[in-house]
Amino acid sequence: MSSQASNNLKQLLRERIQEKGPMPVSEYMGLILGHPEWGYYMRQDPLGHNGDFTTAPEISQMFGEMIGLWLADIWMQSGSPGEFILLECGPGRGTLMSDALRATKGVKGFHDAVQLHLLETSCFLKEKQKQALNAYNTVWHETIKTLPDNAPIFMVANEFFDALPIDQYEFTSNGWCERKIGFEGDAFVWVLEQCAVDPIEGLNLPKPEHGKIFEAAPIRNQFMQELSSRIYKQGGAALVIDYGHLRSGYGDTFQAVYKHDFVDVLSHIGDADLTSHVNFDELENAALEASLEIWGKETQGEFLKKLGIQVYASKLLSAANEKQADDIQKALHRLTHSDEMGSLFKVMGVGYGTNIKPAGF
Ligand code: SAH
Repeated sequence: MSSQASNNLKQLLRERIQEKGPMPVSEYMGLILGHPEWGYYMRQDPLGHNGDFTTAPEISQMFGEMIGLWLADIWMQSGSPGEFILLECGPGRGTLMSDALRATKGVKGFHDAVQLHLLETSCFLKEKQKQALNAYNTVWHETIKTLPDNAPIFMVANEFFDALPIDQYEFTSNGWCERKIGFEGDAFVWVLEQCAVDPIEGLNLPKPEHGKIFEAAPIRNQFMQELSSRIYKQGGAALVIDYGHLRSGYGDTFQAVYKHDFVDVLSHIGDADLTSHVNFDELENAALEASLEIWGKETQGEFLKKLGIQVYASKLLSAANEKQADDIQKALHRLTHSDEMGSLFKVMGVGYGTNIKPAGF
């Protein structure tokens, strides 16, 4: 049975389609995830066993701890600035940040210099973050435009970029068409609308074959560029972790996840999470356009192993009871193995400064 919020959203989408015609995927995704009252992220905690999906920081504290140490290392290599903005975009329950801050307590000067800033649009999740991070002075933002402009920014985002809306195009016998969402009878349906301009113009992609789908992510790329410009002006770094691909290509990666299962993207409206795979090639271009250095791109498995997660896990294992040991082994496997999150998830580190030697790449 769908929720009341889901019914309200469906009604809103129907009216919008009746009024203006089929809607682009980005508008559909943006409304369903971000509607101030009924949006998916506004009403619930999507994470964990009782939610719809589980993320790396929720699997094991080792994840946030290693990320914290990565950030502290870059901060030190950047000359240990006496004040800096530690920014997380889309912090979920605040678990990653809480683990990262705990792990860096021993790093001299780091906690004295930190100003914690979180980018989050969900009031529901903000409450969770407040609980997890109540020991720290925290400032919340709904846009990066309100971040202070007088200190370097060290940013981390795990499974944030995948939630930013995309558009889709399909190559047909009539050329490129935009895939839009229409309403027919009593159901949402896919509609193809002829494109006026070539969506892959100027991109380094092979000639499309019939049926190929191209995904464009202007909102995501714009966000990366804005953040990168800030980092170029103020100094700092960004570590982006998400599922996706390192090279541009064709393919339909728009997906809906409900109670840990994939469902049709046109079903479970507002009750299922909507995401797409992140094209790291384009995020890299956005950072380069803002004159940042690309420090590295790596799979999550290799990144964590190069940071020493196996050694860290063995250390934890030596002090663990049987149940804890089992949990640690399973978490290590899930985070790093190529059949689990190890290969699908990618990590990209970018920042200001050519003489930085970032760990993990
Ligand atoms: N990073 C967390 C949560 C991932 S879920 C983890 O790894 O567990 C996605 C997060 O991004 C949620 O906190 C969600 O509310 C937030 N989010 C989604 N779209 C957003 C947007 N447009 N602006 C700010 N936050 C957003």
